[in-house]
Amino acid sequence: VDSKSELAGLTESEITSAANDAKAAGHEGKYLINITNTTRQPVLASLENRELRQRIWEASANRGLTGENETASLVARLAQLRAERAALLGYDNWASYRLAPQMAKTPEAVYSMFGSMVPAVVANTEKEAADIQAMITKTGGKFELAPWDWEFYAEKVRKEKFALDASSVRPYFEFNRVLEDGVFYTLKELYGVTLKPRPDLPVYHPDVKAYEMFDADGSSMAIFYADYFAREGKRGGAWMSSFVGQSFLEGTKPVVVNVMNIKKAPEGEPTFVSYDQVTTMFHEMGHGTHGMFSKVTYPSLAGTAVSRDFVEFPSTFEEDWAAHPKVLANYAKHYETGAPIPEELLQKLLKSGSFNQGYDTLEYMAAALVDMEWHSLSPDAPLQDVATFEANALKKHGLNITAVPPRYKSTYFAHAFPGGYSASYYAYMWSEILAADAFAYVQTQGGLNREIGMKYRKNIREVGNSIAPMEAYKNFRGQEPTTEGLLNRRGLNTVN
Ligand SMILES: [Zn+2]
Repeated sequence: VDSKSELAGLTESEITSAANDAKAAGHEGKYLINITNTTRQPVLASLENRELRQRIWEASANRGLTGENETASLVARLAQLRAERAALLGYDNWASYRLAPQMAKTPEAVYSMFGSMVPAVVANTEKEAADIQAMITKTGGKFELAPWDWEFYAEKVRKEKFALDASSVRPYFEFNRVLEDGVFYTLKELYGVTLKPRPDLPVYHPDVKAYEMFDADGSSMAIFYADYFAREGKRGGAWMSSFVGQSFLEGTKPVVVNVMNIKKAPEGEPTFVSYDQVTTMFHEMGHGTHGMFSKVTYPSLAGTAVSRDFVEFPSTFEEDWAAHPKVLANYAKHYETGAPIPEELLQKLLKSGSFNQGYDTLEYMAAALVDMEWHSLSPDAPLQDVATFEANALKKHGLNITAVPPRYKSTYFAHAFPGGYSASYYAYMWSEILAADAFAYVQTQGGLNREIGMKYRKNIREVGNSIAPMEAYKNFRGQEPTTEGLLNRRGLNTVN
């Protein structure tokens, strides 16, 4: 970018970074905007200059199609070679080979599950597009919504419709309350387990806390390490990991850790967490208990060693308890007065999560189905033209909406091509479908109670990969999952 005036809308520090990046790249006096890995570019939410937005979006979306970093020919050839390899292994296509050990089992199962969501997702996306078009017109724009306008105007819609002052909710989410009266409380109510501090056990940093988990009958089940706070040199993000896996064969009990990067308050002051962090604490404990509840013989089948379209099911299921009225009432209390979070504020907070969900869901599904279509090619299919193939795949599934391109296009789709996620990008949402279906089912069985909680714990969390995942699911649920729960979870069941 040649001049600073084109960067209106960015903060001073973003502009300074762009100037420094340009200098480092040998273009002193100019500004460099780096493209991130998704089609969508974060900078598009704030850049006011429409021509520059278009340039950036096109640079992103056309990556790899031509020029010195062209990848399109590799994509087409890879798809062909994978189909050939699948044939050698006795499968119809690469996707069938890849899905055989997964819960979904066949690409057809994924097409059918995702296909059932398309009408609701498209309807919501169209409504969002209409809101954005109205915002364009309202703010004086005389043009039709293009992909490079979406985030810029969606941000204005969000501020108008879903604005939430983060500082107003903060006092209701004090870290210890969330952990003990939220996360641990849910474990006790649903699964009968309790966690007791074990200050005598060694830890690898003073911020880390060790707990022992006990079953309802008092028997010891596992050791849980809580490593929630950010510190220098610690990897960012949040995850669960296992120090010792469960196995009857080896006689081992699980030792697991949940890691997050919450900013710790100075000594003597309460630490607060955002609502996003609250749900992440529940999420990681879902993985944690998947490890700690394990009751299998072989270590290779224990805990979270399940198929990748199943592994995020327990964690996403656990996440949804954070917003359950009974659970919320137990932990979301003002840190000084103990007063419950005001209903109006709570509703605003929960509603803000449904913003832009049509777009988010559609761009994800588009990428997942393009991935699956590439890998459903038969071994004798001719070499494909990438742009044409992608356009046809989107059209076939009714997801060809110009303003909402796939999250990744084939030429820069690392999951599907160089990475290990070929024919597997669908797995994230498959897990979410299970979680939402299971959570909705549990609500019809009395919600937060031990009886249904134990049925779920036994059939889903204890069995690891020792039972075929669909069998395990049906043992718990009495039927195969449907997508209605997911549409509800994302606020897509009706057009709002
Ligand atoms: Zn997870």
